Amino acid sequence: MVDWNKIFDNFGIKKVSKTDKTKSAYLPNEKQRLAIEAAGILPANERPAPSFEVTVLFDATTSTVSSSYYYSERSPSAERNPEPRMGHGIISSWLAQGDKVLIGNIGSQLFAAKLNFSLPPSSIVVSEEIIKCANREVIFDRAKTATGKPAKRFIERAEFIRSPFIVAAVLIRSDGKCEMPGCARQLFSRDDDSPYLEVHHVVPLSEDGDDTFINAAALCPHCHREVHYGKNRYLLRDRLRVHIETLEA
Ligand SMILES: [Zn+2]
Ligand SMILES: [Zn+2]
Repeated sequence: MVDWNKIFDNFGIKKVSKTDKTKSAYLPNEKQRLAIEAAGILPANERPAPSFEVTVLFDATTSTVSSSYYYSERSPSAERNPEPRMGHGIISSWLAQGDKVLIGNIGSQLFAAKLNFSLPPSSIVVSEEIIKCANREVIFDRAKTATGKPAKRFIERAEFIRSPFIVAAVLIRSDGKCEMPGCARQLFSRDDDSPYLEVHHVVPLSEDGDDTFINAAALCPHCHREVHYGKNRYLLRDRLRVHIETLEA
């Protein structure tokens, strides 16, 4: 379950009603109004109401949508205050009747997401996605104001039990140099003055690779990260595999 509270300063969720759609004026609920106003947008009295951009999340078709926020015309008989509406593209073109829409703010940035579709299940994945759409200003502001020790989460995971003999043998075979062909990076030293190398599985154990001498290579930290996360990882993986096979042939 996604914990929206951990992501947004304020947020509210409301379905788009038939009236919202036919009048092209979305009536935000109280929590959504709080988010809009916390982002620094106050209901306008003037017509046409000024327009602002809302960052759209989890929608492959668009990343922003225009909106306005204004007081509806008060009918002469109404005693209560007019309720503000949202107009422009957000309701005229983006939202459809029945859409469950989340409106939330992080600082001065206002976000909207349709929750009709299934989202990634974890708050962490969702917040990473949201941060990709956040303004630099919002990101730096949150980073600078974050304080204290992070909360802990407990993760249960299965670990492979690797053979220490393979690790030792690979380090001997490497002769203190990164085994990625062409790598000549300077290695830093461990406490015992041995060069720092990491033993990597050419076909990862998680991809059903074997914990064998021929499937293991000693890599410098740079090559090791690159072979896992680099854009050219498959190319590097192949190059490494061929190299180790020739060594062992
Ligand atoms: Zn590795
Ligand atoms: Zn290297």
